[in-house]
Amino acid sequence: MNKLIERSELRDIWEKVDAGQRITEDDCARLYRSQDLAAIGAMANTVRERKNSNVAYYVLNRHINYSNLCILDCDFCAFYRRRRDAGAYEYNLPQMIEKAQEALQQGITEIHIVGGLHPSFKWDYYVEMLRSLKALDPKLHLKAFTAIEILHLSWVGKRSVLETLAALREAGLGSLTGGGAEIFDPEVRSVICHAKESAEEWADVHRTWHKMGGRSTCTMLIGHVEKNHHRVDHLRRLRELQDETNGFTAFVTLAFHPENTKLPHLPGPSGYDMLKTLAIARIYLDNIDHIKAYWILMGMKLAQVSLSYGVDDLDGTVIEEKIYHMAGAKTPQEVAREELVKAIREAGREPVQRDSLYRPVVQKGGGGEMRDDHGAGAPGGHALPAASACVGASNEGGAA
Ligand code: SF4
Repeated sequence: MNKLIERSELRDIWEKVDAGQRITEDDCARLYRSQDLAAIGAMANTVRERKNSNVAYYVLNRHINYSNLCILDCDFCAFYRRRRDAGAYEYNLPQMIEKAQEALQQGITEIHIVGGLHPSFKWDYYVEMLRSLKALDPKLHLKAFTAIEILHLSWVGKRSVLETLAALREAGLGSLTGGGAEIFDPEVRSVICHAKESAEEWADVHRTWHKMGGRSTCTMLIGHVEKNHHRVDHLRRLRELQDETNGFTAFVTLAFHPENTKLPHLPGPSGYDMLKTLAIARIYLDNIDHIKAYWILMGMKLAQVSLSYGVDDLDGTVIEEKIYHMAGAKTPQEVAREELVKAIREAGREPVQRDSLYRPVVQKGGGGEMRDDHGAGAPGGHALPAASACVGASNEGGAA
């Protein structure tokens, strides 16, 4: 037994983890109450290495936040604007295409697209966006829209959620992003995002997508008014949905950034809290294969450390990020592949470039070759094991 854990108050939880047994909601709450980060981290690292060996993934991607105009006004959000506000913007399709073309020249395999709930864009804008981007390269994976945006598009397009998702997939949607979950508890939602759709509506969008064969990520926003029991409840709901659909590829902990929001008095999460939550998520979410550290909002150095606290994915190159930078994030907007690889190697892990569905990208002549199954990777499929042919060694988030 790990010596850190042998003397820990958490020894009984470790025995479950070591035996590959599922821990309970009460166990999860005890992990949150404990200050023994070293023991929690050691447990998470055991699970992480069991699931993903020594591999740490990264993706070459570009984020495009197509507009910050939004009909809602979530208190935790620094991104949204009304049309006449300073800083309001929206991209037309030629602008989107230009950004994508530039990024394709850098070898990206994924575009991550989220925005506000736009007050006047018509259905055709979204469909044409996907079609035009997909036409640039049919292998390009479009990871787009939060569940909240999908509900908005369902309303804009006067279609059911199922019809909306089917039409978007036909236009090129590869997978859904995990944003909009925040904290599921209704009392917390009433404080930080009072007009946003409910937890049940968020879950229904992902459930519908998963049942269509689609994959998505899931998130939890921490460091605002939530308490530990809200986090445990949130993780429980995610684990239950994953038991039902097996459609989540990864879990991402999002750090609340208070600057320029209506909640500037709140501190946001500490580095300790981020590491602890990532580690607890790794231990508790036994049915989700990957835990992602979103370096753009937690900083590369902490993200690097998190590779020893349950995390196996540092996300990607990003290139341009607006949501967290409008909330005061001091991180760069872009990181080169070499920096991701270096950060992973320095942490003693094996870097592997992945595609959007966690399949290793096979390098040919210095470029990446990928496969895209249009996001319909069968739920339940697992990333290839660490020692496969991968070769990488050489903003889940979202506002809406
Ligand atoms: S979090 Fe999303 S839905 Fe809420 S105000 Fe910001 S952009 Fe709009």
